[in-house]
Amino acid sequence: MRFLKAFSVLILIIMLVGCSNENEVNTSKTTSTTTVNDTIPASKEFFAMDTYMEVDAYGDNGEKAVAKAEKEVNKLDSILSTGKSTSEISKLNKNKKQVVSADTMSLIKESVKISKATNSAFNPTIYPLMELWGFTTKNYYVPKDNEIKPLLNHMDIDNIKIDESKNEVSFKDSNMKIDLGAIAKGYTSSKIIDIFKENNIKSGMVTLGGNVQVLGKKPDGSLWKVGIQNPIGEDEYLGVLRTSDKAVITSGGYERNFTKNGKTYHHILDPSNGYPANNGLTSVTIVSSDGTLADALSTSLFVMGKDKAIDFYKKSNYNFDFILYSSDNKLIISDGIEDIFSSDLDIKVVNK
Ligand code: AMP
Ligand code: MG
Repeated sequence: MRFLKAFSVLILIIMLVGCSNENEVNTSKTTSTTTVNDTIPASKEFFAMDTYMEVDAYGDNGEKAVAKAEKEVNKLDSILSTGKSTSEISKLNKNKKQVVSADTMSLIKESVKISKATNSAFNPTIYPLMELWGFTTKNYYVPKDNEIKPLLNHMDIDNIKIDESKNEVSFKDSNMKIDLGAIAKGYTSSKIIDIFKENNIKSGMVTLGGNVQVLGKKPDGSLWKVGIQNPIGEDEYLGVLRTSDKAVITSGGYERNFTKNGKTYHHILDPSNGYPANNGLTSVTIVSSDGTLADALSTSLFVMGKDKAIDFYKKSNYNFDFILYSSDNKLIISDGIEDIFSSDLDIKVVNK
């Protein structure tokens, strides 16, 4: 079922970004690798990081760039995944001390920074709670209050110790475990865009699950069109963003959840109470030139809820825009994307 969902999101994005005219569907990207010229990209689709991915690069070095991109994704997956016992993160969680690669070091440092900036709405030390709820094994379980509460005491971000001189990360709390699932995909798409640039690609696109990052404009000079999925209707979208050189990253409870006794529980947990965040938002999309930031903030603003998210936007020094879809079906966007986002729904615009 999730495969189907992820696939339909992917198709929606492909349809929107691939069209030079809204009604025309580009079907050239359905094969795994295609010939390269200025209008047909080198393209690869694969499954990694628990999601469908597609990388497209236009121009002479396209084939080389997409091959390197796939290699990079597999490398990052192998060092960051909590699902692989040999990953750096799994070893750190097990041994509480680990020498890490530059990628892991940089992601942990960024995670700590964003955790502090969001007053812990984003908190990578959430992993023991993800385990308790069964999201790590798919053996889902609704824990009792007295099972959740003790775990909240092991989520102090200041207990992550970073020693850059030794490339070492350690935990001062032996019950601590981390999970970079809320930030790793954005980091990965940013790294792919860097690989594209190093290979002199001027136009390209990465989609990781429902998340998109585009490089430059489309080869014909027009802006990319990115469809923002409507969390309620799987085949519909909230609106379309026309953009270039941006990551467009969405978080929503609809992406991963389970239902027990008629109640649905999703995978984005509120670190203040250990329960699935239930603060009035159904989905949050962040638009930013920094994919890592966009990913971390999509999760953070989802946890904060509408009012705190808007307040954070107004006060924050981070450079980003948002599209919020509230539980009462209201669409709220920030002023920076007012002219490039269109929707059939009523839109409320928030000024910085
Ligand atoms: P995303 O889809 O980017 O919003 O990330 C959700 C994933 O991040 C979950 O599947 C967990 O692995 C992890 N996660 C859940 N809640 C949080 C949180 N409050 N802060 C950081 N990571 C979280
Ligand atoms: Mg995220």
